[in-house]
Amino acid sequence: MWRVALCLAAAAPLPAQTPAAAVPRVRLVATGGTISNRTGGRLTAEELVKSMPGIERYAQAEFEQFTNVASSELTLDQWLGISKRLNELFRTDAGLAGLVVTSGTDTLEELAYFLDLTVRSEKPVVVVGSMRNPSTLGYEGAANLLDGFRVAASPAARNKGVLVVLNDEINSARDVTKTDAVRLQTFQTRGYGVLGVVDADRVVFHRDVVKRHTVRSEFDVASLTTLPRVDIIMVYQGADGDLIKAAADAGAKGIVIAAAGAGATSGTQREAENYAVKKGVVVVTTTRTGSGRIAPPRRGANAPPPARAGTLTPEEQGRFVAGEDLAPVKARVLLMLALTRTRDPADIQRIFSEY
Ligand code: GLU
Repeated sequence: MWRVALCLAAAAPLPAQTPAAAVPRVRLVATGGTISNRTGGRLTAEELVKSMPGIERYAQAEFEQFTNVASSELTLDQWLGISKRLNELFRTDAGLAGLVVTSGTDTLEELAYFLDLTVRSEKPVVVVGSMRNPSTLGYEGAANLLDGFRVAASPAARNKGVLVVLNDEINSARDVTKTDAVRLQTFQTRGYGVLGVVDADRVVFHRDVVKRHTVRSEFDVASLTTLPRVDIIMVYQGADGDLIKAAADAGAKGIVIAAAGAGATSGTQREAENYAVKKGVVVVTTTRTGSGRIAPPRRGANAPPPARAGTLTPEEQGRFVAGEDLAPVKARVLLMLALTRTRDPADIQRIFSEY
């Protein structure tokens, strides 16, 4: 109800910010987070939009409130709802130049990657948050939001997938990680670097994203009402396999292993992985190191024998999928979506190689 009420309110132009005729229309879909978390009452989408001095130079700002909670409180059903709403906005409003989504920063990168895989438009979608709340000296939320609107209004940001903008830097939703619990420069793309920057004169891109996303994605949330359960389990010295078995027994359709180094497990985890694949679970190996690639096993005449030959049937061995260079939390997002399309592990491996 709240969202509907504020959608209606959003139809009215903001009196204090009459836009110049030529600037693009950009809409904020606010979900909450520290950027809104003012002591004594959260900032609404309308208050956020009104907090950006000079926005009328860059964009005609619209807004709506989807929800107003911390990012870790968002449910997967709400993720589906946000994606459906963004798709609906692009489908029904051809004049919209781009969208900005506010999110809490803790799990921002997961929502952003989910949108990267499911919003089917070339137009910019920019996810923005802040590390300091509006009641804190040095609150950077209004600056980040203004940067987000500038990127969403920029033709240069089209067809780059969903973008994450904080601290004057533009990162790809696929590759960005929150690397520090507190510092303002927390969002980093380890190994590859920023896509671009938001400078005083203009929005500048330095490189492109070559992996499949948005309009080139095969994932369609329109018909989805739920996402399959996928759990993440970390490898550490002497780790017991019981947690892997518990996830399989609890109904996980997929398990992402945040492995040591280039794919090592520990303790009794390997035996537990075998237990899971025998139950039909797809096991995706990623690395807990923070960067680097887990490659699929070599196939063909010169390939070494499969690591688990003798223990598992070829079909069961096939349920081990390499997570490529995705961080464990990103691999989980991709695996949930992959499992809405296929249970064929070879097809899931193809998806991990293409996205
Ligand atoms: N840092 C929290 C998050 O990522 C936000 C806290 C809050 O909004 O209450 O969502």
